[in-house]
Amino acid sequence: MSTTTKIKGNNALLKDWNVESIRKDFPILTRQVYDKPLVYLDNAASSQMPQTVIDRLVAYHSHEHANVHRGIHYLSQKATTAFEEARIKVQNFIGADDSSEIIWTGGTTDAINLVAQTYGKTFMKEGDEIIISEMEHHANIVSWQILCEQNGARLKVIPIDDNGDLILEEYENLLNDRTRMVAITHISNVLGTINPVKEVISMAHEKDIPVLLDGAQGAPHIPVNVKELDCDFYAFSGHKMQGPTGIGVLYGKRKWLEKMPPYRGGGEMIDKVTFEKTTYNDLPFKFEAGTPSIAASIALGSAIDYLENIGMNRIEAYETQLLEYATEVLQHIDGVKIIGTTNRKSSIISFMIDDIHPHDVGTLLDRQGIAIRTGHHCAQPLMTRFNIPATSRASFALFNTDKEIDKLAEGIKKVQQIFA
Ligand code: PMP
Repeated sequence: MSTTTKIKGNNALLKDWNVESIRKDFPILTRQVYDKPLVYLDNAASSQMPQTVIDRLVAYHSHEHANVHRGIHYLSQKATTAFEEARIKVQNFIGADDSSEIIWTGGTTDAINLVAQTYGKTFMKEGDEIIISEMEHHANIVSWQILCEQNGARLKVIPIDDNGDLILEEYENLLNDRTRMVAITHISNVLGTINPVKEVISMAHEKDIPVLLDGAQGAPHIPVNVKELDCDFYAFSGHKMQGPTGIGVLYGKRKWLEKMPPYRGGGEMIDKVTFEKTTYNDLPFKFEAGTPSIAASIALGSAIDYLENIGMNRIEAYETQLLEYATEVLQHIDGVKIIGTTNRKSSIISFMIDDIHPHDVGTLLDRQGIAIRTGHHCAQPLMTRFNIPATSRASFALFNTDKEIDKLAEGIKKVQQIFA
């Protein structure tokens, strides 16, 4: 697993890094908001697409669109080929064994719900337990709660310490012979914590318990290899990794996917249908009922090409520098408190300013052209853990710059002056 510590000082990777040239790939970065140059620091919510990805969407819709897998005509075959090639790009991007282990979903949320409703319904019963953590996004809480309401299973929660690290001793105590699933985030969308997922997985596997990783903030920012991690499921979203909205991925080990029943019924997921009985299609199609997001899948393939051309290890190194710079700058502003202070962090920084409500911070920064996220970030239990209503969060991508971090710092000082 990649950690900030490993990357620190690894400037060799960044020898030829040219952020100004990268910025030119993203048309939205040239726009102004309120007559100010856009400073886009909300990448953890949704990042931006380079021109190549936008062009791929336009080319598909202009010249290649037809439904996939169904037609013998030219366009249908062309669309199917591009669609399946994109699946192989995803497979290679995360190091999966086979493209049949890659299931297209609507996003991370959809992928986690799929596992809860199929794996959960098949392998869990009343009294069984699912372990999550205190830093989960609602997608990785509520999906399991819905299952618990349906089948009487119970949620168990790994607590975190004040730095935002999982307390692994507590995790060890929670693992028992009733545990049927461990579902935790790879990287926290609020704290930036990179969880020690390899350790979490091997502890669960010692007891034959499968592990789902919520990779919404992992796949876009650090190299991910599902084989090396040995996770059973990995879920992520296209729109946070330079791709479009409406598309995401569930990776699952074949041994589980084969045993899981379909999630939704409809076209494409069937083998043979009669009124008496229906048999289902092979993997991955068993989980892909109906017409998929064809254009978005293909464009996600282009986003992966874009990221891989730059190199995920270089992206990680650059974003780590951004995080270190932002941490340095923000912690020297009087009244700013950073929430999430572990040394294994990705490029997300949550903070509080004096006793100013984050919504006021966000609104005032917005007027200066600076887009950050404020609120509970779909992690209300984490807010409760830190006894705060919300945070302000800046989250970086490969196109952000130190200059933009300076603007954020100036913006914060202006907010403080207004409230002084
Ligand atoms: N998990 C985490 C850690 C996230 O950051 C997000 C997005 N904020 C999600 C799940 C949900 O992703 P999506 O809305 O794309 O389904």
